[in-house]
Amino acid sequence: MSRPPEDVLLEIKGLKTYFFTEEGVVKAIESVDIEVYKSETLGLVGESGSGKSVTALSILGIVPDPPGKILDGQVVFHGQDLRHLSDADMRKIRGNQIAMIFQDPMTSLNPVFTVGDQISEAIMLHQKVSKKEAKEKSIKIMSLVGIPSADERVDNYPFEFSGGMRQRVMIAMALSCNPELLIADEPSTSLDVTIQAQILELLKATSEEFDMSIILITHDMGVIAEMCDRVAVMYAGYICEIGDIMIIFKSPFHPYTRGLLGAIPRPDAEREDLTIIRGAIPNLINPPSACRFHPRCDYFMQGLCDVILPSIIEVEPGHDIRCHIYTEEGKAWMQKHGQQREIGKIPIGKAIN
Ligand code: SF4
Repeated sequence: MSRPPEDVLLEIKGLKTYFFTEEGVVKAIESVDIEVYKSETLGLVGESGSGKSVTALSILGIVPDPPGKILDGQVVFHGQDLRHLSDADMRKIRGNQIAMIFQDPMTSLNPVFTVGDQISEAIMLHQKVSKKEAKEKSIKIMSLVGIPSADERVDNYPFEFSGGMRQRVMIAMALSCNPELLIADEPSTSLDVTIQAQILELLKATSEEFDMSIILITHDMGVIAEMCDRVAVMYAGYICEIGDIMIIFKSPFHPYTRGLLGAIPRPDAEREDLTIIRGAIPNLINPPSACRFHPRCDYFMQGLCDVILPSIIEVEPGHDIRCHIYTEEGKAWMQKHGQQREIGKIPIGKAIN
């Protein structure tokens, strides 16, 4: 269900980010449109190279430049376009109102400072507190994220923590200024499964406690199912499907989403076989024309999907798709060729006849 405009915390419109490399122009994000609502967890899912992390860096204005450049679009947070803010104003928002945690906590923490110093620094950057008060706050937030003996461990260095505990330190640092939005980029991917579950559980609990929205970036549909209210599926620089988690998992409309879900083993599923998505994500220096998924799509409509980029269609309230199966052009193509392509209500793993 679409929510009223006052519930929108962040709105990304027509975002376009390229990287100008010696090999050529990498068209990493061609057009991304996403709304993030207050207090929701939105999953951003897709294969590696689909543009998920570049979207996150673009939101925060930290795309490495050169070679990266945001060429177009708006990133509207609390009614103001972050792309038009000065560096100084953006620094006030980054880490304070919007925080981010990365996949590998070891590379995000400075090895020569204690974790307490690093959390305190984040606090003092945005709040008028003394060093002593910042340390007390650091201990409190470390306890909150489940680091035992936080009053002692605050003086430890990152190498003295396990991978899971380091990720808790990163979460503590991100939460230290009560952000309204947390961007978590594959926060549990480098951890073993039991620690992964603990970190995801911690994120869930803290988002409720802090009344915080989360953009959770992952390639793992299982994590999305466990954590998210809505999901945006991304492929080669575009959002191809976005909607409520229950709707998307029950009846995905986009061939790529169906491929991702069809590849997950589920003992309860009605389908007989796992499906595969043939081929690989394209080279974005020279991506396929129009719908970038067309060389891998079983429902490809020649002369349409490779010629005209499908526009975004709302197939039901709050459920948007970018695919010709649901556009007027697509319906005309199917009629002309006497072929049926509508797959939205067909169980995953079953092909149309
Ligand atoms: Fe497949 Fe065409 Fe839809 Fe692209 S637009 S996903 S090629 S049916």
